[in-house]
Amino acid sequence: MKNNTATIDLHCHLDGSLSPGCIRALAKTAGITLPVSEKGLRSCLQVEPGCRSLKEYLEKFGLPLSCLISEESFETAAYDVMAQGAGEHTIYMEIRFAPLLSAAEGLTSRQIVESVLRGLKKAEESFQIKGNIILCAMRHMPWEKNMEIVELAREYLGQGVCAIDLAGDEAAFPVLGQKRVFEEAARLGIPFTIHAGECSSAESIQNAVELGAKRIGHGIAMAGNKDAIRLCRQREIGIEMCPTSNLQTKAVPSMGQYPFREFWEEGLLVTVNTDNRTVSGTTVTQELEALEQAGYLLPEERKQLMQNAAKASFADNAVKDWMLGKIG
Ligand SMILES: [Zn+2]
Repeated sequence: MKNNTATIDLHCHLDGSLSPGCIRALAKTAGITLPVSEKGLRSCLQVEPGCRSLKEYLEKFGLPLSCLISEESFETAAYDVMAQGAGEHTIYMEIRFAPLLSAAEGLTSRQIVESVLRGLKKAEESFQIKGNIILCAMRHMPWEKNMEIVELAREYLGQGVCAIDLAGDEAAFPVLGQKRVFEEAARLGIPFTIHAGECSSAESIQNAVELGAKRIGHGIAMAGNKDAIRLCRQREIGIEMCPTSNLQTKAVPSMGQYPFREFWEEGLLVTVNTDNRTVSGTTVTQELEALEQAGYLLPEERKQLMQNAAKASFADNAVKDWMLGKIG
C-alpha cells in the first residue's frame, strides 16, 4: 500500500548503485569478463547479509569502478540509477561520485561531469524524476588535489551540480585536513555535505558542521551526544541516514540500536536514503519499510520525513516546491 509514496534520495553513490543489467552492458564494452549467472554477478556487486565490516563493504566497488571508463559509461550509469529511482517512485535524487577516482585513461573530470549530466537529463526527460549531482572530494587525497572539485563545482553549480561532499576513510583522515577545501567552498557559496560520524566520533560531525556543512552523511556517532545533537538542531543540519548500509558496515551493531527515533524526537532534520542501491541491495522504499518494521517510524510520518528531505535537499526553490507538491 505504501509503494506509491513519493520518495527522495539525497545520499546515493553512483558507482555503488549500478544495476546488474547496467554492469553487464558496461563490462561488455570495457572487455571485462563477468560471472555468467545472475547470482554470481550479484555476489560480486552486493554484500552478503552477514557483512562484517566497512572494508568488506568497500570491496564491492571494485567492479563498478572498473566499468566506468568512458564518457558513454558514465552517461549510461547515471541514466540507470535515475531509472531505478523512478521505478520505485523516487521523485528527486542527488547522485554523488568522485571524479578524481575515475579521471584516468585520458578522461578528464569535466568530461565525467558532463557525461553524468547527460545521463541525468535523459532520465529526467524519460521519467517523472529530477536530479542533481554532488561531487565528492576524497579524504585520502591532498587538499590541493581536492581543490579541483571546488573548481569543478563552481563551474557547474546550478547547472546540474548542486553541492560537494567529502568521502573516504573518516578515521584515518579527519575532516580538518581538508579545512582549506571547505573554507574555499563556503567562500564561493558552494553548499556541502560531509560524510561524518559513520565510523568515527561525534567530534568529526561537530568539526564538519563548524566548517559550514549544511548536511551530514550518516551522523550515527552523535547518538547520545547532546552537544552534537543540539548543534545540528540549531543549525538545521540535514542528517542523511542510511539504515541498511549502516548495519552492513557495522556503524551500528544492530537495528535495535539504530538512532533514527532518537534523532527524530530530538527534532533533527532527519532524512532516509539508500547510500548504495546495489552494494546494499536496497531502495528508499525498503529503507522506510525497515524503519517501520523496527517500530522507529509510523506510516503517517513518512510524509514529514519526505518533507524534511525536500527541505534539506540542495535543489533550487522551484524544484523544492515541485517536490513538496508531489509529496502532498
Ligand atoms: Zn555515502
